This record gives sequence, C-alpha cells and structure tokens, in this order.
Amino acid sequence: MSVYLDHAATSPPRREVLEAAWPYLTSVTANPSSVHSAGRAARTALDDARERAAAVLGVRGGEVVFTGGGTEADNLAVLGIARAVAATTGRRRVVVSAVEHSAVLEPALALVAEGFALDVVGVDEHGTVDLDHLAALLGPGTALCAVMHANNEVGTVQPVEAIAELCRSAGAVLHVDAVQSARHLPVRLDAPGWEGVGSLAVSGHKLGGMRGAGALAVRGCVPLAPTTHGGGQERGRRSGTVDVAGAVSTAAALALAEAERESEHARLGALREHLVAGLAAAVPGARTTGHPTERLPGHVSLVLPGVAGHVVLEELDLHGIACSSGSACSAESEDASHVLTAMGLSHDEARTALRISTGPQTTAADVETLLAALPGAVAAASLGRS
Ligand code: PLP
Repeated sequence: MSVYLDHAATSPPRREVLEAAWPYLTSVTANPSSVHSAGRAARTALDDARERAAAVLGVRGGEVVFTGGGTEADNLAVLGIARAVAATTGRRRVVVSAVEHSAVLEPALALVAEGFALDVVGVDEHGTVDLDHLAALLGPGTALCAVMHANNEVGTVQPVEAIAELCRSAGAVLHVDAVQSARHLPVRLDAPGWEGVGSLAVSGHKLGGMRGAGALAVRGCVPLAPTTHGGGQERGRRSGTVDVAGAVSTAAALALAEAERESEHARLGALREHLVAGLAAAVPGARTTGHPTERLPGHVSLVLPGVAGHVVLEELDLHGIACSSGSACSAESEDASHVLTAMGLSHDEARTALRISTGPQTTAADVETLLAALPGAVAAASLGRS
C-alpha cells in the first residue's frame, strides 16, 4: 500500500485538468503565434485560458503572464520588477522575508550582484513576518518587497493586507509568492486589502495542474522588465513559444482549486486536527511548528524528539509512506532549514523536521496509516537504522 503525503512538494495532476489540456497536447498543437487557422485555434485557447486564470486571480487577462512554473514566475517578478523600478525611479533596495522559498531568495541575491541592497525581514517563532521590522526596513529607496502568502515548510499564512499597506505607503511594489496557498486560500489581487499587492506567482503542479507550468499575475501599472529575450510573446514580458497545454492546464487547475476550496479547506482541516491529536500518543515529545491558527489546512510540520527528520522519512518510505523532511528543494542538502532557524529553532532541532502535506486524494485511512507507522519509524531512526 502506498500513502502519498507530500502534496506541498507536488500534487498528482487531476483528471479534469488533464482532460482540459488533452486537445492541446494531441490535436490543436500549432504555435499560437502562427497565422494559419491551426495557429489561430491555439491562440483562441490561450486567450481563453488567460481570461480564466485572470478571473480566479482577480486581474484582467492582459495582466496574466504564463510561465514555466512557480520558480520562473518568482524570478520574473523579483528580477523584472526590481530592475524596471530601479531604471525608472532609481530605487535600488529590495526586502525579502527570511522564510522565502529559494525561487525568491536566489534572484534577490542575484540582484545584490547587480548593485542592489538586500534587506531581510525577520519572522517570529510561528514564522510570521515581523511587521515593525518590515516598517523599519521599507523606505524611499525600496523598489520591491517579496513576502510569500503561505510558507511551504511550516504552512504559516502571512498577513498580506498589513504587509501590502506598509509597502503601499513606502511606494514599494509587493510581490507575493502564492505557490503554496493558491489551492487552499483565495489569491485575488482585487480582494479588499490586496490593492497594494503588485504581483502574485502561482504554480500549476501544486494545484493538480501540470508540472512546468505556472503564471505571474502582475498589475498593468507595475513596471516589469523581461528576463528572457526573444520573440516578444506574452506582450514582451516572457519571450518563448507559449505552452498552450500548460496554460490551459494552469487555468483549469486554478478554477478547480477555486471550486473546491471551501469544502477541501474544511475536509483537510479536519484531517489535520485528527493527525495532530494522534501525534501526541504516536510520538511523545513531537511538536508542531508554524502558526497555530493562521495556517494552511493541508500542512503538518513537526520537530521530533532528537531524531533526524530525513532518517524518519526513509523509514516511512520503507512502509510505503511518502512525506518530506522540510521542503523538497532542500531535502538533498544537509543544511538545517533556513525557515526553521529564522523562527528561532537551533540547527540541531531544525534537522529533526518532518513535513506531512495532504491534498485532494488524501483520506482518513492515510492519516491512520501514518499514525500507525510513525512510532516504529521514529524508534528505528533513533536506533540509527538505515
Ligand atoms: N515558491 C514556493 C513557496 C514553493 O513551495 C515552490 C515549490 O516548491 C516554488 C515557489 C517553486 O515552484 P515550481 O516548483 O513550480 O517551480
């Protein structure tokens, strides 16, 4: 039996999404920039996908840039907005939160090499951005601030409205990485309090869409310098032949997430409560991390009593249970999670982290299987097996 509890890393593509994309993988495969009728059919599908994605993201169709996933959307926003704002206003400071994904942190570091100043805003013990620290960092020189909507490792949801207001009064563009939250929470740029959000990144494969497809919603008034140069597709903002099937799948996945959001939020929240309640007996001494209430319903992140998270992960894998020892992206590195250490955990404690993330296919039986396997996995890990 296999139990998949790593939806924050990637979630299986949904049938509805694959069916929507199928014609654009098989019959309507022309280049949407071609002028023949097959090209025009592809263009129509692309325009339609753009409008559908825009409807979920609360923007106009022209404000959606389809990308090759969340990393590319974040890179385009961080590099493209900071460079464009700097060119027009001379502002050359960037602020990022200490718990951003590397898809935001690495381009921010690349900006430093270009002469930008980088400020890192701290978080509290729950992983919530310190608003006083942010207010002190933002200033007339700030071009861009990037704060994620929800954290991929601990599931903490940030107070986007308050952050947006601080950025708006400092005249800085706010970029929000919504890759983890878009499945669980509304991510609309027209929502009250989100007026100060300039751009928002989403990724198809976290929503039951296809991998390597995503989007950046960016307000028309926000300057954006392209990071790829070529044929000028996506209104000059992202050159390269557009992946129509990827765009259609991303739009379909966003719409499906929106349709299921309320019921899935309640269902996954109940599964989470069940899992957290069972943990105390399964692994005495285990402690959940992240915000107790301002959080995604589909994440449980834990620190275990003195056992390396990656060894427990391997033990669970032997029992057919897939979860993660932090973020999938840092799993191969021996370094302690920068998210957990920013929250004040010691390096040793951060290395005991385990992340369990649920999705549409997760059942109560999956949670039971995990709870039944955890004591043995932790015991085996503490004996140093594997
Ligand atoms: N941002 C966050 C918060 C993520 O969790 C991830 C992926 O794990 C990304 C960005 C990168 O998205 P993608 O895998 O689509 O490149």
